[in-house]
Amino acid sequence: MKKRIAIYGSTGSIGTQALDVISQHPKLFQVEILSAHSNASLLIEQSLKFEPNMVIISDEKKYEEVNNALASKGIKVFAGEQSLIELAASDSYDVLLAAIVGYAGLSSTLAAAEQGKTIALANKETLVVAGDLVTETLKQKGARIIPVDSEHSAIFQCLVGEHHNPVSKVILTASGGPFLGKKPNFLINVKKDHALQHPNWTMGAKITIDSASLMNKGLEMIEAKWLFGLQNEQIEVIIHPQSIIHSMVEFADGSVKAQMGLPDMKLPIQYALAFPDRLSNNWKRLSMKNYPSLTFEPADIKTFRNLALASQAMFTGGNAPCVLNAANEIVVDAFLKNKIGFLEMSDIIEKTLEKITFIEKPSLHDYVQTNQVARDYAQSLIK
Ligand code: NDP
Ligand code: MG
Repeated sequence: MKKRIAIYGSTGSIGTQALDVISQHPKLFQVEILSAHSNASLLIEQSLKFEPNMVIISDEKKYEEVNNALASKGIKVFAGEQSLIELAASDSYDVLLAAIVGYAGLSSTLAAAEQGKTIALANKETLVVAGDLVTETLKQKGARIIPVDSEHSAIFQCLVGEHHNPVSKVILTASGGPFLGKKPNFLINVKKDHALQHPNWTMGAKITIDSASLMNKGLEMIEAKWLFGLQNEQIEVIIHPQSIIHSMVEFADGSVKAQMGLPDMKLPIQYALAFPDRLSNNWKRLSMKNYPSLTFEPADIKTFRNLALASQAMFTGGNAPCVLNAANEIVVDAFLKNKIGFLEMSDIIEKTLEKITFIEKPSLHDYVQTNQVARDYAQSLIK
């Protein structure tokens, strides 16, 4: 039996790499559902190649174009966010690869969790915004998340076979991004073209800016907290510019396990789709001869304040990470449109965290509200 895969966000960086992985294992995987937001032409191209049974274009204005191209091929076409939610809750697939970017991925991931599904999770914002609700739902409904984010995949891989053994801490590695070692007097003038040049990874625009500002590592601390049931104090971050060690786990006896490999997202994507199996492939292999020195240094949180703000939101808990995420989505968008400078992103996030009313135990409705008011407030600070 082939595993039936639904890829939400198939036109993005993770989505297209997942289709690469699937095309290399046609006997194991079958594409059942694809989704895009507005990139109709790529969604059509992917659908003609992979022949899913269903596709969703969330931007309803593009429905006609997609339907005209695919209906005659027997592919059912849906539009809108509600379709993402309904099909995520359906029986038509085995694994949902959640690869929509940002808060927009929350509702469909939650719908899959409600139905006890297996979710290969790339969309870290889901756990940042509502980690308590999502993990509670997973427990109640018998759903599970296999992480796709490379750091969390590394930790997950280190924990296989160790579930009865206490973890003393996890150490998330961060490349440091294109501005490693830079100070505020440099960062004040940087523009998006420079920030989009990541030294080790090719990714979508939002996560690339998050990597340059170290917000990505802050979001990943919160993601790790919920995925692995950790106390805040058990999560550390270390800069490792070569991106060869993808993260580490220290156990109760002081032993530290690390997972290594070349920086290539196809590896954690394949691992999540094929889990518990490891599939062979012909990708380039890590040779330690090419990496005579692997180096580590502390993160400069005075300069890269987003990491400090994310850590603060994690310790505050409640709806604070939701506020952080909402403000961050607004400022990254504004930075990409050249409306604000690189350092202003942290100023606006900090002000938004101070402004929005704290809720200690938010309901889903509270999260939805918090997301909206935090976005509106952050937006009001952008001229
Ligand atoms: P991209 O921007 O490359 O792709 C995003 C995907 O989501 C696209 O298919 C896009 O459709 C779709 N999308 C965007 N907005 C919406 C919306 N409002 N509703 C529905 N669909 C939407 O992002 P990435 O692939 O880089 O990242 C996806 C997720 O994976 C993020 O959460 C990121 O943090 C995480 N991740 C990514 C990594 C990477 O290497 N790229 C590594 C680790 C985690 P369209 O193309 O039509 O706009
Ligand atoms: Mg990562």
